[in-house]
Amino acid sequence: MRSLTWKLGGALLLIVFVSVGLMAYLTNLSTTREFQQYVSRGNMMYTQSLANSLGDLYAEEQGWNNIQETLRSLPLSTSARILVTDSSGVIIADTAREWLGKESAEVSLSDGTPITVSGQTVGSLYLLTSGGMVRGHMGGRIPQAIPMVVTSEEDFLERVNDSLWKVGLIAVAVALVIGLILTRQITRPVRALISGARHLTKGELSYRVTVKSRDEIGELADSFNIMASSLEKGEQSRRQLTADIAHELRTPLTVIEGTVDGIIDGVFQPDTEHLRSIKEQTALLTHLISDLRDISLAESGQLKLNLTSTDMVELVRRVVSNYEINAREKNIRIKLEEEPQISEIEADTVRMEQVISNLLVNAIRHTPSNGSISVTIKNDEGGLAISVADTGEGIAPEDLPHVFERFYRSGSSRSRKEGGTGLGLAIVKQMVEAHGGKVWVESKMGTGSIFSILFPFSI
Ligand code: ADP
Repeated sequence: MRSLTWKLGGALLLIVFVSVGLMAYLTNLSTTREFQQYVSRGNMMYTQSLANSLGDLYAEEQGWNNIQETLRSLPLSTSARILVTDSSGVIIADTAREWLGKESAEVSLSDGTPITVSGQTVGSLYLLTSGGMVRGHMGGRIPQAIPMVVTSEEDFLERVNDSLWKVGLIAVAVALVIGLILTRQITRPVRALISGARHLTKGELSYRVTVKSRDEIGELADSFNIMASSLEKGEQSRRQLTADIAHELRTPLTVIEGTVDGIIDGVFQPDTEHLRSIKEQTALLTHLISDLRDISLAESGQLKLNLTSTDMVELVRRVVSNYEINAREKNIRIKLEEEPQISEIEADTVRMEQVISNLLVNAIRHTPSNGSISVTIKNDEGGLAISVADTGEGIAPEDLPHVFERFYRSGSSRSRKEGGTGLGLAIVKQMVEAHGGKVWVESKMGTGSIFSILFPFSI
């Protein structure tokens, strides 16, 4: 596997190699050049002082007597080949003996260092290195790359180069160790994330990664944990929903089964009363299934709203008139108060009717005979506010925060008996929120409840 560790480590190694190599090469180049110039200047000064000494010798001896022997017996501090010509250009001394007696032009000697006595040139001095010739005055030609004259000087440069490469190698080794430690530190949180992802894949949704770094990887780990939490919550709510559905389906099915068994066993007569009971339970099942479909679509964000410009006053009036008969049966009066300047909102008419219906059905269900329900529509808090208030039994404070949860039923199980699925308010909440609105409830035991909806105007 081409892991991140190897990629990062490889990149670091390459950078270290290239930079240390380049540094060593350039240092080597400039040290060599500086050192050679230093040596070359030293050679020139040496040549000049040797020429002066030879001039003194000439003056003392009154000529070039025995110059060859004298030169060879001098304590010369150079390994270079030294040649001396007389004023006519004939080689009269050669530390290598080779060219004695030859013309300087013959062996291509030129530009020697003049040996002067009282202003008169009495000869020339040539210092031959293995690669060229050194002239004794500073204004002369300075060879660009004079090879080493003195063996120990060559050794010196070699040693400098040697230690340069050694230092380079140590630098590479140190960089390698530091690089490895750094790489491991960088990749550790990534490995933690990979292991986290594997745990999630295996279904361990409670697994969280612990990454302390406060950089982008730390942020990624935080996002990873948030994602894991939301997966876990989703899974929990899915399980809860399945359990709730099973529970809710069981009640009407038990009633149906019991009634049918009773009829088969001859305990009950197959009369209208028992058949109506079966019919009511199947109607509840149908209602439950349709509510479940709505809630699951809304909760998964797949509810398709068919938004059109809707006059809410007209819509509420229509729904209220649909339930007037039910209300009248219980001798409940429904008052409709409408005073909005703007009553049109973008809404899905069918869904909106469902919302108002659910609130009205609840209000009628929970309001005793001779009570009243008032439905109000007005412009308030920068939007369209609709409220349904009843003079019913009210909701206990401990139930109040939960009434919008699916399958939540307050203390009395009356709503189920009356055909409630426990999903009505959960659907109201989902639908209202899908329209960009909010819904809330205020209630006082024994006085009544007020369910309010607000659809804010977008401007
Ligand atoms: P259901 O279909 O059982 O009515 P809802 O989601 O519509 O379910 O309501 C949840 C619970 O909230 C109900 O069981 C009931 O106890 C309570 N509730 C809803 N509306 C009212 C109301 N107007 N007055 C008193 N209690 C209410």
